[in-house]
Amino acid sequence: MSEKFQGSFTQQEPIPDAGIEAALQILKSGRLHRYNIAEGEHGETALLEQEFAASVDAKYCLAVASGGYAMATALRAVGVKAGDKVLSNAFTLAPVPGSIAAVGGVPVFVGVTRDLTIDLDDLAAKADLADVLMLSHMRGHMCDMDRLMAICDAAGITVIEDCAHTMGAKWGDTFSGRHGVMGCYSCQTYKHVNSGEGGLLVSDDDELMARAIMLSGSYMLFERHLAGPPKEAFANIKYETPNISGRMDHLRAAILRPQLADLDTQVTRWNERYVAVEDGLQDTPGLTVVKRHEKESYVGSSIQFLLEGWSDAAVNDAIARCGARGVELKWFGGAEPVAFTSRYDSWRYAPSEPMLATDDILRGIVDMRLPLTFSIEDCQQIARIIRAEVSAVYQGQDS
Ligand SMILES: *Cc1c(COP(=O)(O)O)cnc(C)c1O
Repeated sequence: MSEKFQGSFTQQEPIPDAGIEAALQILKSGRLHRYNIAEGEHGETALLEQEFAASVDAKYCLAVASGGYAMATALRAVGVKAGDKVLSNAFTLAPVPGSIAAVGGVPVFVGVTRDLTIDLDDLAAKADLADVLMLSHMRGHMCDMDRLMAICDAAGITVIEDCAHTMGAKWGDTFSGRHGVMGCYSCQTYKHVNSGEGGLLVSDDDELMARAIMLSGSYMLFERHLAGPPKEAFANIKYETPNISGRMDHLRAAILRPQLADLDTQVTRWNERYVAVEDGLQDTPGLTVVKRHEKESYVGSSIQFLLEGWSDAAVNDAIARCGARGVELKWFGGAEPVAFTSRYDSWRYAPSEPMLATDDILRGIVDMRLPLTFSIEDCQQIARIIRAEVSAVYQGQDS
């Protein structure tokens, strides 16, 4: 009998007791709105912002309703208007082009490399097409950020970072989200901290953050922000900036603060699981393990590998065989969007030129979540199952 994995790929850990306790206090207080604070109180939301800003060495932080909202707010804050082109990754998830579409912008997709990072040669070639890059550190893979910033600085491109998969990650000594003018994070259930929904936006720029705070729906209460720019920064901005309501509430912030305090520990645990799967997959015939750059400190909350040059039928077969043994894999090459996974050419509101080299890579990308509810032994078992099924299909292929 071949072994079958029994765990759930969508089961996260419970909210820490401290978060549950803090949430109950908020519920009992009745003060859930971020600006509803008692005398002498700062409120959970402002405290979360202060703590997150400090944790990534940022001057300012704003907590909002979702990661996608954080990205659209950043695009608005830097001045993207209807009809403007915005560069972004071809290999990413739908909220990224969606945030560009939300402000009426037009995504211009940049290709992906075999390291699953943005293709910097393609970026350099397209640098004169737009003034803004929405850079997605998709599945936690960071490109050579030194080269990316050199290309963008030379071309006058404003960089916004989508750090939905890199909260806690670094390039060299710099936290992900701190190379661009604004960094955007998600607190949605499947990311690195979990409040169901939620987002964070960081920046060192007074004007951009003042705009973002007004946009998020601060009314004239912006002085209640502990991690916001001084009130002088709002002098004109408070009259000129629409309120596009998307605040975070105290309940979510209360759940997030203890998780943020634990993030380093969780990152270590994710990486132990990542390495367990990666080790188990090394030297599997037909399977390429994705390389990580030495300057990258990543968070292994998911893992990807490549089935390069495989036929669609063979990839589908391997995924089906793993699925039958309890291992849920996602395929980025699929022609039809499925569950959370879709390909740039399926976003028909954002037409694109075909990118042949990128299409070849996408056709081979297989993706798997690594929730912290998995033990190291679970991860070793998962790797054994993938190894066995991928090898079997590979060896049975005609070519
Ligand atoms: C989840 C995700 C987002 C958006 O986050 P939400 O909080 O769900 O809006 C953005 N980019 C990527 C790559 C994501 O996976």
